Amino acid sequence: MLPDRCSIKEKGRNCVNPPEFIISIIDKDEYMVVVTCERHKKIFSAKLESLQKEGKMPKGVINFSALKPVGTDCVKAHPDDLISID
Ligand SMILES: [Zn+2]
Repeated sequence: MLPDRCSIKEKGRNCVNPPEFIISIIDKDEYMVVVTCERHKKIFSAKLESLQKEGKMPKGVINFSALKPVGTDCVKAHPDDLISID
């Protein structure tokens, strides 16, 4: 399951915005790192770059993928369209 909040903590308080992007690092494999809101996207990529320089994160390209809003009353989905995340 993806978190339902942005993963950023600012001044000791968790950001309450819904996540809008998945941040991952693409090397030979793709590492999913966290989710973030639009407001924290830039801050976060800067932070990740410095972690990569310190060797605390895998090297690779930092990739942002937009999350699609999830409908709450999604009755139109075919069972075959459901994605199982376990
Ligand atoms: Zn945020």
